[in-house]
Order: sequence, then structure tokens, then C-alpha cells
Amino acid sequence: MSDSKSNDKSSKKKKNGKEKEPDITFYHPDLLEVPEDGSPPYLKGYKCKKCGQLDFPKLSPCPNCWGEEFEMVPLSRKGTVYSVTDIMVPAPGMKPPYVIAYVDLPENLRILAQLEGEVGSFKCNEEVELTVGPIRLNDDGLPIMSYKFKKAS
Ligand SMILES: [Zn+2]
Repeated sequence: MSDSKSNDKSSKKKKNGKEKEPDITFYHPDLLEVPEDGSPPYLKGYKCKKCGQLDFPKLSPCPNCWGEEFEMVPLSRKGTVYSVTDIMVPAPGMKPPYVIAYVDLPENLRILAQLEGEVGSFKCNEEVELTVGPIRLNDDGLPIMSYKFKKAS
């Protein structure tokens, strides 16, 4: 990759319209609730009011019945690791190594998330719980916070 002029920061800054939003790609307040009263964070599932299908993240319309009305349902904070991968390759704003996993929740949902903890220390079927932490750095080197899972206590 060459560092051409069109790639540098100054040209990135002129935002014409809404097309460029790379920094918030992984940060979804509509997916994660961190209660202000200090109670534990939870992920937001969306249940179709017509057929009852539960999805995370929200899919609209409902892929099952085309329904467009949903009810927010707090999801379980604990799940089990379905598969786990240690990432050794850097990506923009992400310093390897870090851990990515699919986590199965009791609601029959499979969630892709980063795991917080040592590389190589997670196993399939291991119990993990939701936490909030930095998932990557934005262009200014500041952490972007979002949901992660860690070993269940
Ligand atoms: Zn539905």
C-alpha cells in the first residue's frame, strides 16, 4: 500500500455528507446498554412483536415475517465460547495479539466479540461474561469502548 495524498489525514477530514464513518463502525450504543446506576452492562436483543423472533443485532424488517415492530430485550450476560481465534495480524487501530470469539447465549444467539484476557487462554465451551472495554483505537489514538466478553467469575 502506498501512502498517497488521497490517503492522508487532511484529506480524510473533509467530510462530505455521511459516507465516511469508519471510527464508529464497532461502537454501537443501540447494541449495548451501560446503565448509569452502575448495574452491569447488557446487550440489547430485539424481539419481533409479530412472530417473536429474537435477533442481535437488530434486523429490520424481521427476516422471518417482515415485521417492523420490535421490543428490546436485555440479553443474558453469560454465554459459552463456541469458537475462538487469536489474531496476530494488525488492523487499523488494533494492536495484535487479541482474541476474537463467537459466544453462544442461552437465547440461542451467537455473538461475535472480542475477548478480554490472555491470548491462548480461552477454550471452546468455556463460560464467559459480558464486559465493556476498549475494542480498538480511533484515528486519534483514543480507545473506542464497546462490548467484550471475559472469563466468567
Ligand atoms: Zn417476525
